Amino acid sequence: MKGNLIIISAPSGTGKTTILKKIMPHLQGLTFSVSHTTRAPRSGEEQGKDYYFVSQDAFLALRDQGGFLEWAEVHGYYYGTSKKEVTDRLNQGIDVFLDIDIQGARQVRKAAPDAISIFICPPSWQEQEKRLTGRGTDSPETIALRLANAKAEMADVNTYDYVVINDDLDSAARMLEAIILAMRAKNRRNLNGEPLCLPTEYS
Ligand code: ADP
Ligand code: 5GP
Repeated sequence: MKGNLIIISAPSGTGKTTILKKIMPHLQGLTFSVSHTTRAPRSGEEQGKDYYFVSQDAFLALRDQGGFLEWAEVHGYYYGTSKKEVTDRLNQGIDVFLDIDIQGARQVRKAAPDAISIFICPPSWQEQEKRLTGRGTDSPETIALRLANAKAEMADVNTYDYVVINDDLDSAARMLEAIILAMRAKNRRNLNGEPLCLPTEYS
């Protein structure tokens, strides 16, 4: 039994990481793919947990070896999803969340058409700016770049299967959880990745 690939994208500062951290403890049989990046760790981010923080040389070497399922340059840094990390989990029947940008999402949809994709929207431009600034992790230049890039990112919203607006955090988390549960019901699996029912017992 193979796991499901779930793509999640959002303009920076929307609250995607916050929502994922909120719902992950409630969902069994699901893991988060830790990406590689050349950007520096933010305060509180851990090597191997939030990202594999690597040099540009190391990133490009892994890319040239064909080690990435997808990769992209985002906000001036390289980001990529390790093929091995994802494939091993899917083959164990575990669902995998990919927190990736719109360029990565396009690549994954091509390579894995069964992947489901979810776009998380900020409630407004002002609120996104407020959240990015309030997070306190980025310089004014970085915030300006990320807000400018948000315009192009929002233009891709209709290419995703589902859209969740992160206005109230609890409602957005419930909506995302509902999407995962519906996906599993469609694929006839429970939260542990087991079949929802066992028709063979009735045959
Ligand atoms: P992303 O991962 O999308 O870049 P984060 O999860 O880091 O964004 O969230 C950016 C900031 O917004 C954080 O300070 C977070 O606490 C805050 N935040 C997230 N969701 C909400 C929400 N629904 N309402 C208010 N603030 C939020
Ligand atoms: P941040 O620097 O805020 O953690 O992430 C910036 C952007 O890079 C976000 O849009 C995030 O989804 C994206 N990102 C993170 N990891 C990957 C990845 O492995 N591949 C791609 N294409 N984008 C990623």
